[in-house]
Amino acid sequence: MVVKTWKSDELGVTIEIDYDKCEGYAECVSVCPSDVFEVVDGKATAPNIDDCIECCACVEACPANAIKHSSCD
Ligand code: SF4
Ligand code: SF4
Repeated sequence: MVVKTWKSDELGVTIEIDYDKCEGYAECVSVCPSDVFEVVDGKATAPNIDDCIECCACVEACPANAIKHSSCD
């Protein structure tokens, strides 16, 4: 299992993306109001996690259930 993790020390937020599940069609990129995500080589990344407003839209939108967010259980 390949799980990538991004952390914001500033916000105390963690986003994990399961790369075995991620299909790279970028629904997370489309729904995130803060432009946290970017698809790189067919997989989602979260380079702008410091801008997260903890709305959980990404977790709800991901059709593959690939995103875990520390504020959205
Ligand atoms: S919405 Fe889910 S499956 Fe689609 S790119 Fe984002 S993390 Fe990957
Ligand atoms: S919780 Fe909201 S603001 Fe944070 S990464 Fe997901 S969609 Fe973007």
